[in-house]
Order: sequence, then structure tokens, then C-alpha cells
Amino acid sequence: MAIVIVGAGTAGVNAAFWLRQYGYKGEIRLLSKESVVPYQRPPLSKSFLTSETAESAIPLKPESFYTNNNISISLNTQIVSIDVGRKVVAAKDGEEYAYEKLILATGASARRLTCEGSELSGVCYLRSMEDAKNLRRKLVESASVVVLGGGVIGLEVASAAVGIGRRVTVIEAAPRVMARVVTPAAANLVRARLEAEGVGFKLNAKLTSIKGRNGHVDQCVLESGEEVQADLIIVGIGAIPELELATEAALEVSNGVVVDDQMRTSDTSIYAIGDCALARNLFFGTMVRLETIHNAVTQAQIVASSICGTSTPAPTPPRFWSDLKGMTLQGLGALKDYDKLVVAINNETVELEVLAYKQERLIATETINRPKRQGALGGSIKLPD
Ligand SMILES: Cc1cc2nc3c(=O)[nH]c(=O)nc-3n(C[C@H](O)[C@H](O)[C@H](O)COP(=O)(O)OP(=O)(O)OC[C@H]3O[C@@H](n4cnc5c(N)ncnc54)[C@H](O)[C@@H]3O)c2cc1C
Repeated sequence: MAIVIVGAGTAGVNAAFWLRQYGYKGEIRLLSKESVVPYQRPPLSKSFLTSETAESAIPLKPESFYTNNNISISLNTQIVSIDVGRKVVAAKDGEEYAYEKLILATGASARRLTCEGSELSGVCYLRSMEDAKNLRRKLVESASVVVLGGGVIGLEVASAAVGIGRRVTVIEAAPRVMARVVTPAAANLVRARLEAEGVGFKLNAKLTSIKGRNGHVDQCVLESGEEVQADLIIVGIGAIPELELATEAALEVSNGVVVDDQMRTSDTSIYAIGDCALARNLFFGTMVRLETIHNAVTQAQIVASSICGTSTPAPTPPRFWSDLKGMTLQGLGALKDYDKLVVAINNETVELEVLAYKQERLIATETINRPKRQGALGGSIKLPD
């Protein structure tokens, strides 16, 4: 019987990879609702947006990987239900796939806007290759771009858009950008640099509606009454985990499919990994759903080791990176409940290092344009006793 993996993003493809690495000899079936061979998502908000990069240029693995490792991959295959009694999943076209073990790697989707005007043309989202190609076309035609949401993806899109000469305004409801993921020191440096490049910021600003003209976006209306001109609105207000299959199969679900340390759901034949999974993270000390490549790859390795019965890989601190207009931002560890920050900043060379401590223990670091230092700091973050 097969191991069936629903979703062929970073988590799903790496699970297939690690299953073979750990010696699994049976059938592995990757099922993807997308129509393209699995690709890397990070470039979509960075170089891909403003270049001629072909979609085939950013594959997750070369096509030979699937044939050489005897991994079957079915594209255009959206799974719509799981029959946990019969141990089969059913696709939209009616095809069924039997599993011995099922791995849900369904990821997340972009949170949608619901305010008045959100259905107008020119309101765009960025999650998939399809979205990125659409956005890339629209960026060429648009003079004024509004980015809704000053999170990592929003700022990456803003820096790409300003780099090709667009007038860009970021609208953010919080008092600062990237509030969820970095310290104020890093956030302020990033904002100052992007401002210097021409990006406008409206902080503490809430969008209430969008006005259109001839069915296309025209103005963003803020709670303050201010209106911001927009030919294109890119919505970057977070992602929502894809939980439908798990919910309908009556698996335990909260802000993610709840899994144990082996990535097992409440049904022991079904696992969940990556952006859709809510798992205990030893560095955070809580159940947490992370949306990073590092997390997807790590959990893919854990699920494969769990299925193959090999020892679980040693935990490594969470990490992420971002590329923003000449700035490489890197974060390591769990930036939570720190009681001391040591900040070193050089505005001229645009370099930053932040060390976050909790009771004298280093729990997280972040750097801008200091990749070697970030690498060296990697081993200094230890698990709490
Ligand atoms: C634009 C962008 C830029 C990013 N940049 C960075 C970065 O710089 N650094 C970083 O660490 N992280 C970055 N991330 C986050 C990172 O890409 C995700 O954390 C990672 O892709 C999660 O992998 P995943 O496999 O869990 O989910 P996904 O990559 O979302 O893959 C899930 C797949 O499952 C498919 N699927 C869902 N439901 C079904 C179904 N019912 N049937 C079949 N298929 C289904 C989806 O279509 C999708 O292809 C970025 C994300 C985006 C969107």
C-alpha cells in the first residue's frame, strides 16, 4: 500500500525525499491541485516578480528527482475528501487513492479581503505561481501600487515594485511593520531603508473600503477618511491554513491540524506537516503553526523518520530570511518573551545585529546584511532546560 501525500509544496516534496532517504521502498504518491511541477515559493515575492524568470527556472527539485526516486506525482489533482474508514482519499474528478499512511501537506492560502470594493479588478493576492505571474503582468501596467499589510511578504513586494519605478504605498494597521516576526530595531531599519528608496508608509492605518472606476480599483479609503490612489492593490494580510480535508475527516483541528511530536494527527494513519500543521515547537515551548521553509523541511524530515522508524532528527531553532532592496534579513530562534535585547546597528552600511535574551539565555537573533555572523550564531541558541 502507498504513502499518499496531499500537497506538493516544500513540505510534501521534502517528505517524499526523506522517505526515500530513510529507505522506504513502497509506493509514494504526491497529489497536487496545482498544474505546474512543484516550485519554490520564496522567489515569487522577490526576483521572480520583476524579472523574466520562467516558471520552470525555480523548481523545488529537478524533474529527474521524481523518476529517479520512483515518486509518482499527479498534478491537477485536488483532493476533496478523506474516507478514514476505507483509508482512501478522493479527488475532485472522482478518482480514489488508497493509502496506508496519509500525509497532509496542504499548506495555506492568502487571507482574503472582505471590505467593500474587494471584488474589484486590480485587487491581487500572492501565494501561488499563478498569482505571481498575474501580479507580474499587472505591475508592468500600474503606476500607483498599494500594498496592504506591512508583513514580510508585503514588504518584499513593495521593494520589488519600487525597484521598477512604481509609486508604492504600504498600508499597515499596526504601529510598525513586520510586528509579528522581528524586533522594532530591525523593523525600523527596514522601513527607513525602504522609505529612502521611495516607499510610502501609512502606519496605524486601517482600510475601510476600496473605490473603483469602471470596475477597476481607484482609491483606498482609510478609517481616517484619507484616500490613497491605487491602480493595483496587493493584499498581504496573512495566510490561512488549508484545513478543510482534516476538518471534514473529523481530525483534531485548531489554528492548524493538531499533530504530536511525530507529526501524527488524531488519526494515527494520518500526519500533517508544514504551513497547515499545528505542532509543539521546543524553542517556542508551545504549540505553534509556523510558515517558513525551515519549518516545512524540518517537519518533512520528522514525518519520514516517524514512518520509517528511524530516530527523530535533533531539533534545530526556527529560522527565516527575507530579501528587501539590498537587505538580507535573517532571523533565528523563537523571538518571544525576551527580557533583554542587545542591538548593534550601522545605518551607513545598513548592517544590524540583534541578540534577544531571556533570563540571560540567548533565545533569538536577527541580522541584516550579516550572513556570516548569522551563520556563526546558529549554534548558540540552545533549547530551554
Ligand atoms: C510569496 C511567498 C514568499 C515566501 N518567502 C519565504 C521566505 O523568503 N522564507 C521562508 O522561510 N518562507 C517563505 N515563504 C513561506 C514558505 O513558502 C512556506 O512556509 C512554505 O511554502 C510552506 O510549505 P508547505 O508545503 O507547507 O505549503 P505550500 O507551499 O503552500 O504547499 C501546499 C500545496 O498543497 C496544495 N494543496 C492544498 N490543498 C490541496 C488539496 N486539497 N489537494 C491537492 N493539493 C492541495 C497547494 O496547492 C500547494 O501547492 C513564502 C511564502 C510565499 C507565499
